[in-house]
Amino acid sequence: MQPTKSIALVAHDARKDDMVDWASHHVEDLANLKIYATGTTGQRLIDGTGLEVERLKSGPHGGDAQLGALIAEDKLDGLIFFIDPLSALPHDVDVKSLLRLAILYNTPMAVNRASASSVLAHMLQSDPE
Ligand code: PGA
Repeated sequence: MQPTKSIALVAHDARKDDMVDWASHHVEDLANLKIYATGTTGQRLIDGTGLEVERLKSGPHGGDAQLGALIAEDKLDGLIFFIDPLSALPHDVDVKSLLRLAILYNTPMAVNRASASSVLAHMLQSDPE
């Protein structure tokens, strides 16, 4: 059966191990969703969990912007973005744009592990508001 909802998974380099670990604890739930990911995060998830992932461009090369476009087109139902809180990033403007669009379109969103599982559970249980 085709998944009816889609989720984006993104992690900055310092948070990729955490993302793969989190995803591997939620493989069965995530397998019910269409998964998008930025390029490097996506490859790490495929290698680490075996999940089917549609990889977009790497974040600094436009992947975050691609995810923002999916949100604007109502093609993304949730965003899990493990942001590195300790490093300045050259594509910070793209990260901000993605977060702004997620807020604007009321997309369920988590930026750390503590909230990621809640967003995932919400996506699997309820209809979007
Ligand atoms: P990456 O991009 O998954 O290609 O590393 C993530 C980001 O830095 O936004």
